[in-house]
Amino acid sequence: MDVELIAVGTELLDLGRPDTNSEWLTERLQRAGARVTARTAVGDDVPRIAGQLRCALTSAEWVIVSGGLGPTEDDRTREAIAAALDVPLERDPAMLTALESRFRGHGRPFSDAQRVQADRPRGARWLANAVGIAPGFVVEARGAMLLALPGVPAELRAIFDQEVAPLLPRRAPRQRRILKIAGRTESWVDERIRDLYATPDAVVTILARPEGIEIALQVQGADPEESRTRLDELDDRIARRLGRDLYGRDEATLAAVTGEALRRAGLTLATAESCTAGLMAGAVTDVPGSSAWFRGGLVAYSDDLKVALAGVARATLAEHGAVSAAVARELARGARERCGADIGVGITGVAGPAGGTPMKPVGRVYVAVEGEGARTERELSLGGDRDLIRRRTVTYALDLVRRALLETA
Ligand code: ATP
Ligand code: MG
Repeated sequence: MDVELIAVGTELLDLGRPDTNSEWLTERLQRAGARVTARTAVGDDVPRIAGQLRCALTSAEWVIVSGGLGPTEDDRTREAIAAALDVPLERDPAMLTALESRFRGHGRPFSDAQRVQADRPRGARWLANAVGIAPGFVVEARGAMLLALPGVPAELRAIFDQEVAPLLPRRAPRQRRILKIAGRTESWVDERIRDLYATPDAVVTILARPEGIEIALQVQGADPEESRTRLDELDDRIARRLGRDLYGRDEATLAAVTGEALRRAGLTLATAESCTAGLMAGAVTDVPGSSAWFRGGLVAYSDDLKVALAGVARATLAEHGAVSAAVARELARGARERCGADIGVGITGVAGPAGGTPMKPVGRVYVAVEGEGARTERELSLGGDRDLIRRRTVTYALDLVRRALLETA
């Protein structure tokens, strides 16, 4: 079983306090046959904790978060868990009464701030704290278990040994697979597979990356053979729905898949890039053996070099502007002709943060592909910062080549 640990507390970052809780938990979990796959420390910040939780929940079967469960303003873990799971916090009257009588027993006033310790995310179950005040809790989240433990080491250890260790399952490993999609948005993919999120004993999650959209499939069952069959079935169903939008699985990269398609077709590629300035050429040549299908590329950043290097007409630049479908087309043709390739790709766009206009806002990118019997282009409106816009452009451009090859195959 894979477990990820998240230690919450700004003092672990700023003040260099060692995260001894995670070390201790790792040791205990390993002894019980579980595998700790990641450990992170994050400050007392709700969006950051929530982001880390969401990320951990996509890959681990258990996520244990420690710290930040107390009553003070900087104890934000509860809130972050509710945000990450998109569920409300609910105050448990029985826990409230128990905490109140405990405080009274110690002759201490039970302040409003203390009451938040009776809050838990909807669906959570308490993990009793025999040595301190704030209890922990456990909640099922997207097929994984999320456990929250207080940060005080003595309390964390006591709760783990008494309440958590007995929950550790002896289960067969999960079967996993990643399906990879390019040229589509996350919401487009989501709409097509939404009904499968509720597949019993399976976890289907969707993740957007600069390199495309990923669907992670995980199937859990006692019999690995049977789990594998169910995973294949789920894969089949999704693959049929996505058709050509699905470009690969697991370790496949878009650049390698596109390169392989070029190799099979016996065709070569060249690029003329403005806003990505060589990023696409870099991605293509990340693939070993790319010299078999990649001729080379032009970086034509200034208008002058678009003309001089790629043969873009001055009239086209004057009439349509450097960021235009017409210039992308001429860049593609220039790449093809001047580099002596079968297929040329032209890329021009506004990566920002400056340079956007109402007609051509930041994120507007034109990609054109021109080749023997294949001519296609795409106008993109990409979100994200400069880095993301440029990386996503490369993904769309590679995908446009891949699709053009599928059309002609
Ligand atoms: P409390 O109810 O005491 O506020 P809490 O769950 O809110 O508990 P924190 O406020 O994050 O926990 O931390 C309480 C104490 O435990 C602090 O002294 C803190 O330095 C220590 N602590 C928290 N996290 C860790 C950790 N990962 N490793 C070691 N010590 C930790
Ligand atoms: Mg605290």
